[in-house]
Amino acid sequence: MFGASAPDAWIDTLVDHWRGRQEWILAHQMDIAGIAAPTGAEERRAAHVESQLRAMEGIDTHRDRHGNVCAVMVPASAGAGVDRAPLVCLAHLDTVFDRETPLVIHREGSIVRCPGIGDNSRGLAVLLALAQTLGAADVRGRLARPVHLIATVGEEGIGDLRGARGWFDDRSAASHIDPFAVIAIDGPGDDTVVHRAPGSVRLRITVTGPGGHSWTDADTVSPVAAVGHLIAGISRLAHERPSGTTIAATRVSGGESLTAIPTQCWVDIDIRGIRQADIDGLRASTMTLLSRAIQEERSRHPRTTLDLQVTVLGERPAGSISEQHRLVRAAVVATAAVGRDARPAIASTDANIPLSRGIPAIALGAGGTGGGAHTRDEWYDDRDSHRGVERLLRLVLTLATSRPSIDDLER
Ligand SMILES: [Zn+2]
Repeated sequence: MFGASAPDAWIDTLVDHWRGRQEWILAHQMDIAGIAAPTGAEERRAAHVESQLRAMEGIDTHRDRHGNVCAVMVPASAGAGVDRAPLVCLAHLDTVFDRETPLVIHREGSIVRCPGIGDNSRGLAVLLALAQTLGAADVRGRLARPVHLIATVGEEGIGDLRGARGWFDDRSAASHIDPFAVIAIDGPGDDTVVHRAPGSVRLRITVTGPGGHSWTDADTVSPVAAVGHLIAGISRLAHERPSGTTIAATRVSGGESLTAIPTQCWVDIDIRGIRQADIDGLRASTMTLLSRAIQEERSRHPRTTLDLQVTVLGERPAGSISEQHRLVRAAVVATAAVGRDARPAIASTDANIPLSRGIPAIALGAGGTGGGAHTRDEWYDDRDSHRGVERLLRLVLTLATSRPSIDDLER
């Protein structure tokens, strides 16, 4: 049975091999961390990862139009029993740090300090280990489906999962066969299994008006007043929101002078939720509140008008699969196999994109522990890191070499 069978001896052999190569993975991890990769400027790090992949056997490597580095392993035998639905592993290239952030690596024993050392240099280094494993002739001979390893751009913050989104868009345009399963490899860790992906929408609402002198033009509409009505409404909405959601006005700016009717005011609204329908509902409510706020201000100053612009600053789709889904259960089995208790988790990762499209996906750590992610004090501890690597190897090798049909992964 899929995911629950006794581990094959050949997988044990590979696991043993990698247990002795933790320094190989850590050396790659430190090399990667030393190359700046701000969201939107991942080129140097992408080129480095691409050259590492090109040097390995059995892998077809290319860069896609979004900047993702794509490594494909096809089964050595294309005969019966080979499924065309691929297994896909994603690891993001980008970091939250700008180009000026010093990327100096300090290592003391098993602990390494450097911005981005865990998130996601660790995931990328383990992606290279997976590539080397899967590309080897004896493993390729066992593959029951293609495997795509993708180092993605634009995962963090303003990137809005751009690389993963582009890859899945292109995939669905080129093929009617959805991936069999997707694993996002993100940061350190060896026990969480992320199967719920919260979504978000970030809006900037800009209101503009004619402005004027605050004494002589006192009957003119005010963008600041309109935005004020909106913020009051958002704050009431935040108290009535459905569980598993948040909504807040997070930034506001407007006006030009102490003694003038403002010509402009903007407000940023941050909406988050576990279920996409709730996010869509809060977004629609925001638009209703906005038109009421504009009407209210205009009704008091009927001779002048306000203009309005809504810009989407960010959008991450939500999605999830149940804890009982076979992919989650397979990950739980792999976690138990390395002596850890699996913890179901919720997080925003590249897995948001497949999950939002009904494609089974999870996110897993790449071994070791760490802290201070997204800060300059980020650290990573390589102690017992083989457990997380072993968990991924067992899961990926099981999924890549087993032959359940895509229907066996219930949605
Ligand atoms: Zn990350």
